[in-house]
Amino acid sequence: MTRIAVVEGDGIGHEVIPVAQEALAVLHPDYEYFPVGVGYGRWEQTGCPCADRDIAALRTADAILFGAVTTPPMKDYQSVVLRIRKALDLYANLRPVKGDGFDIMIVRENSEGLYSGIEETSADRATTLRVVTRKGTERIARVAIQLAQQRQGTLTIGHKANVLKSDVFFRDICVAAAKKAGVSYNDKFIDALGLDILLHPKAYDVIVTTNIFGDIISDVASYLVGGLGLVPSANIGDRYALFEPVHGSAPDIAGKNIANPIAALRSAAMLLAYLGDNEGSVRLNSAITTVLSSGMRTRDIGGSAGTREFGDAILRVLGKQG
Ligand code: NAD
Repeated sequence: MTRIAVVEGDGIGHEVIPVAQEALAVLHPDYEYFPVGVGYGRWEQTGCPCADRDIAALRTADAILFGAVTTPPMKDYQSVVLRIRKALDLYANLRPVKGDGFDIMIVRENSEGLYSGIEETSADRATTLRVVTRKGTERIARVAIQLAQQRQGTLTIGHKANVLKSDVFFRDICVAAAKKAGVSYNDKFIDALGLDILLHPKAYDVIVTTNIFGDIISDVASYLVGGLGLVPSANIGDRYALFEPVHGSAPDIAGKNIANPIAALRSAAMLLAYLGDNEGSVRLNSAITTVLSSGMRTRDIGGSAGTREFGDAILRVLGKQG
């Protein structure tokens, strides 16, 4: 039986993930769903945000549906999501941003770069080491090139090679891989790319970049489609896969039933496609389109519907399709 681990996490994760899970359960009552309770809330209760047994539980799943976790800016607190990405070697973070006339796939290296976790703080200095390896770059380039080939599109390599040696290294490996695969490619400084993606979104197809640049550029690109409440993501490795909204736990709006569940629902649709159910994935995405076309919207995109009401509308559409 297909097993889905469900991590609500913190904040609005407790609101948007139940909606996404219910939608999955309508499409797949045959799957088994089991909760894994990691996050800051867990740390507040027990002093441990994520235990080894939680990682072991996640490893038993065919796919993971993940909300978001709060990472408090405390010196000794280890980010749960980084720990999971590392433990399951989820090295490719795919962040699609689709809108009127554009369809961009941001491929973010997810296992190293500035998020390698090699840090040091003393009284007068703090250091974070940015590690870019050949292995890490070659495997993310491979994922991005495969996507560019499938989509018959162009690969854009985002970097800051004018300043950072580690990005000369990253760019050159990506260029060599693209040349070898015969994929059309170009490269752009990441700061210029941040503006250009907003001005000319139709000019982009697949973008590959390092960890923190991918994190930032996808938040920037979310502006094109109405903000963070709409953008899903997949974290993929060779053995495991985790699907989560690009947004965080949004403590400013948590518990108010106003969070937009679309990013979580689209993440669930990506999960279905990963598991081979393309038809279910299309059904879920088209249910979102149907509800939006009816005029129903949450507050962040100009409406007044609550998280729950929007989710119920999705379930009604899915029920009618069935
Ligand atoms: P955030 O994405 O949580 O929120 C940024 C802004 O977007 C907020 O104003 C929020 O209200 C709004 N927003 C986010 N999602 C929304 C939605 N679904 N509907 C409507 N509005 C939405 O980012 P942040 O405020 O920088 O971070 C909050 C916490 O989340 C931090 O502790 C951070 O570390 C964590 N975080 C976790 C993840 C993850 O678990 N993968 C990712 C990003 C941030």
